[in-house]
Amino acid sequence: MSAIAVQLPDDVTAAREGILAFAEQEIIPRHDANRTLFEDPRALYREDGRFSDALLALIREVRTASAAAGFYQMCVPESLGGGGLGHLAYYVAWEALFHRCGPQNWLMLYVLSHWAFGPSRMLTQVTPEAQERILAGLMNGTRSMCFGLSEPNAGSDAAMIRTRARRDGDGWRISGRKIWTSNAPVADYCVVFAVTDAQRAAARRGGISAFLVPVDAPGFSVQRVIKLFGHVGGDEAELALEDVYVEPWQVVGELDQGFGAALYGVSLGRIYNSARAVGYGRWALELALDYANTREAFGSSIGEFQGVSFPLAESATELHAAHLMGINAATLLDQGSQAIKELSMTKAYSVQVGYRAVDRAMQTHGAMGFTNELGLTEAWHALRIVNVADGTNEILNRTIAQRLLKGDVSL
Ligand SMILES: Cc1cc2nc3c(=O)[nH]c(=O)nc-3n(C[C@H](O)[C@H](O)[C@H](O)COP(=O)(O)OP(=O)(O)OC[C@H]3O[C@@H](n4cnc5c(N)ncnc54)[C@H](O)[C@@H]3O)c2cc1C
Repeated sequence: MSAIAVQLPDDVTAAREGILAFAEQEIIPRHDANRTLFEDPRALYREDGRFSDALLALIREVRTASAAAGFYQMCVPESLGGGGLGHLAYYVAWEALFHRCGPQNWLMLYVLSHWAFGPSRMLTQVTPEAQERILAGLMNGTRSMCFGLSEPNAGSDAAMIRTRARRDGDGWRISGRKIWTSNAPVADYCVVFAVTDAQRAAARRGGISAFLVPVDAPGFSVQRVIKLFGHVGGDEAELALEDVYVEPWQVVGELDQGFGAALYGVSLGRIYNSARAVGYGRWALELALDYANTREAFGSSIGEFQGVSFPLAESATELHAAHLMGINAATLLDQGSQAIKELSMTKAYSVQVGYRAVDRAMQTHGAMGFTNELGLTEAWHALRIVNVADGTNEILNRTIAQRLLKGDVSL
């Protein structure tokens, strides 16, 4: 019996089943075949912390195979050459992939285009000339991009960015620094946010623009790869821009209104991370239930002890609620609403309960919970991080409270 009364549209369930079948055929066997590579961190990363050539080749294989099968770009609008599925399909497919593949089969991260790294609805905001230049490579999975908003002195309060774009003839020259930019060590293009009108930016009335910058543009450089806990390399980087010249075709969205583009991207990120948290949480819960049924202590299976089973029951309840919230928020986006409050509630709640579900699964496993072979620690790391990335829990609460105080009390 399904626990969910809400009927998903047929095209969404078909997309979910199709992408899961693709993962069964293309992802899990690739992990099995490349176990030696995946178990050796020195083979996964280069000296400077970037992904190794062997890993990049596998990522490209997955992206291009998925693009050829029509999954990679399935949530990109048809006007851009994609499959035209919406936010609900994006949520449902990501949740299913994380649930089925768990943290060990992580090449699944490249089966469906991540909004910041590959083609997405965001690209409707780039100029026709930019589409002409970059779309084909992004859609077929041979090229990727990144999203450079955060800076050393501007995180939650992104309006504090100091990167400047000065007018130079018909174009601009961009100078500044970016940090935490995911996929930047290997990306081909970066969407860079910069102040174009200092007065308006200081008054927080626009004045910030987004530009599409090829990473081989003179003056653009990756300063260092940032290594997050437990890894000898990484996918986040610190960037420097020194007088990088950009032309009008490179403006993303409207000039001086770059936050519009940023907000939409961040919404997609929140859907993705909510799905990731629920998917990993369900994967961890099922692992814990199996263990609770088989591990014995004091003359019975440990699942017989309420100290073990009640936390799992709480996780199931929380994940069920988070799943329904995710379906609801994604449906609101598909209906054309910005769903700012609902998406903030969904992301903040999902990442906390997903993280807690993984933590409880570790506790259920005792010492086994900390071994590399189970992968629980990887899921725990990943979900701890998304309590900060794409809007911290505190900033999401701030957004929810602001909406409530302005009278948006619909729940
Ligand atoms: C793995 C990872 C990947 C990332 N990828 C990208 C990327 O691709 N592109 C990009 O542009 N950025 C990226 N980021 C950056 C991310 O968007 C920021 O980390 C996030 O916005 C928070 O900013 P901060 O880390 O500077 O924290 P700060 O803004 O310095 O906040 C520090 C603490 O203060 C709290 N705080 C701040 N203001 C308030 C307030 N008003 N009320 C209550 N609490 C408050 C925060 O919640 C936090 O706990 C990434 C981050 C991570 C960890």
